Amino acid sequence: MENEMSKILVGSIENIAKYIPPGKVVIITDKNVRRYHGGKFPNAEIIEIGDGEGIKTLDTVKTIYEQLLNLEVDRSWFILGIGGGIVCDIAGFVASTYMRGIEFGFVPTTLLAQVDASIGGKNGVNLLDYKNIVGTIRQPKFTLCDINLLKTLPKKEIKNGIAEIIKHAAICDAKLFSVLENNSQAVWMLDENIVKRMVQDSIRIKITIVKKDGTEKRERMKLNFGHTIGHAIEKITRVSHGEAISTGMVAECKLFSSMKLMKHEDTERLEKLLMLYGLPTLVGCMKSDIAETIRKDKKRRSKNVTMPVLNSIGKCRLVDIELSKLGAAINDMC
Ligand code: NAD
Repeated sequence: MENEMSKILVGSIENIAKYIPPGKVVIITDKNVRRYHGGKFPNAEIIEIGDGEGIKTLDTVKTIYEQLLNLEVDRSWFILGIGGGIVCDIAGFVASTYMRGIEFGFVPTTLLAQVDASIGGKNGVNLLDYKNIVGTIRQPKFTLCDINLLKTLPKKEIKNGIAEIIKHAAICDAKLFSVLENNSQAVWMLDENIVKRMVQDSIRIKITIVKKDGTEKRERMKLNFGHTIGHAIEKITRVSHGEAISTGMVAECKLFSSMKLMKHEDTERLEKLLMLYGLPTLVGCMKSDIAETIRKDKKRRSKNVTMPVLNSIGKCRLVDIELSKLGAAINDMC
């Protein structure tokens, strides 16, 4: 698959040499990915970071800059991020800022990174209590998704990716939604054909939206389905991203159903699909905390919040909702 911004491939890491430009390469990866898949890495210098959201900081970025300086990396080098969303976000940010930007590529190794984090050009790190608040929008030269790398991924990480795939299907692709409804066993077994299809469809959906709106003026906000409430839940309860987004999608749909903006049957169908994949659909925190956290969210613009609402499964529109109304509706939500 190709888009104007960068090449996105679904293939084998063994063929990666074809896509890396001539010159020296430095790989940024994490300890788990190196342990499981280091043997497949191309010939390169390696910078290894720890894992977990806690390392997605400017301190980690500074340590990487220092290691790049020690290796005498200059603008003729290529940075290759091999890892999950955290590695991709950090590697992309480092590559966009070191020496005012050098070329980079990604081999995403989690399902979430393959269908979401490595696509679209957003990268960055967290600061204080704010997720992804420091970053750039810059496209990698290529992203190579190797489905086989997912075989070592823990089940809870697979679930995180599935939540984002369900999101893509719900907002843009009714057919993919049905495929997910009818093939849960094959998905869990990581059947190569079905996972390949899910990854390719998800990438296509994200690229189509990002192409229309690279800098998140409006259209790209469709990708925030479930994320307005989901991010608040993630912040308050510290559940995984996928779990938070799953609960967020259902909570947002219930809210919009109660506001007569969408059909109750579609909410039920979405809830059923998420449950089929063991994803949670209930909010386990104070509704007032959710409303207050949304109010403070960095994505908030003036007094309104722009949110995607499902017209039907596979189609959505954006609506601007007054924050005060949203807060009141969340409080009324049972
Ligand atoms: P992650 O990067 O933390 O990876 C999850 C865990 O799996 C880690 O412990 C990692 O070491 C391990 N791992 C990775 N690949 C593996 C493999 N093949 N086998 C075994 N273990 C493996 O988590 P994630 O869910 O991939 O990414 C989450 C991050 O992505 C968040 O920081 C989020 O903000 C970011 N994100 C960014 C975007 C974007 O557009 N830039 C979009 C969505 C999410």
